[in-house]
Amino acid sequence: MDALCTDLRACTLCADRFAATATRHRPNPVVWFKPGARVLIASQAPGLRVHEANTPFWDQSGRRLRDWLGMTEDEFYDRERVAIVPMAFCFPGYDAKGSDLPPPPVCARTWRAPILEGLDTIRLTILIGGYAQKWHLGTKQGVTDTVAGWRDHAPHTFPLPHPSWRNTAWLKRNSWFETELLPVLRARVREEME
Ligand code: SF4
Repeated sequence: MDALCTDLRACTLCADRFAATATRHRPNPVVWFKPGARVLIASQAPGLRVHEANTPFWDQSGRRLRDWLGMTEDEFYDRERVAIVPMAFCFPGYDAKGSDLPPPPVCARTWRAPILEGLDTIRLTILIGGYAQKWHLGTKQGVTDTVAGWRDHAPHTFPLPHPSWRNTAWLKRNSWFETELLPVLRARVREEME
C-alpha cells in the first residue's frame, strides 16, 4: 500500500485536462487512507478548497458530512479508523457555469480497485453522490432513488447525497433522510468507531 500511495501522489494522468480548465491547476491527489480502517467514505472529488488545503472535506460540505455521521473532526480525520477514497483524487476544475466538473473516469479506472483491495478491513461503506453509488452498487438509478432505497444496503453500506450546500433544497424535500436514515447511520458509525 505504501508504494501504491507514493505512485498515486505522483500521478499526472489528468495534467492536460486540468491545464485546459479555467483554473489551469496541476494535479494534486488528496490521499487519505491507510490499511486497517473500518469505515470507508467513498466520495466524489476534491473541491478547490480541499485541493488547496490538501485535506479532504476541509470545507462546509465536510462540516455537514461530519454532522450526518455524528463524528467529531478528530474521528473523521483519524486514518487508522476512517479511509476517504474519492472517485477522483484531484480537483477536476470548474465548468462554464462555475460548478465542479465531474470526476475524470480514468482515476477510478486506474486507482480504485487496487486501493480497495488493500482496504480489506472495511466494515461500513458510505457512498456519497451518484458517481460512487454507480461504481459500488452498479446501479443505474439516480441519487434520490438510491438513497431512498438505503434499507436495501444497510447495515454495511449507506448511500448519501452529496453534503454540498447545493443539496439543501433536496434535504428539505426529503425529510425522511434526517428522521429515518441518519439515526441508523449514526448508530452504525458509533459501533465501528468505538
Ligand atoms: S484525478 Fe486521479 S488520475 Fe487524474 S491526475 Fe489526479 S490522481 Fe491522477
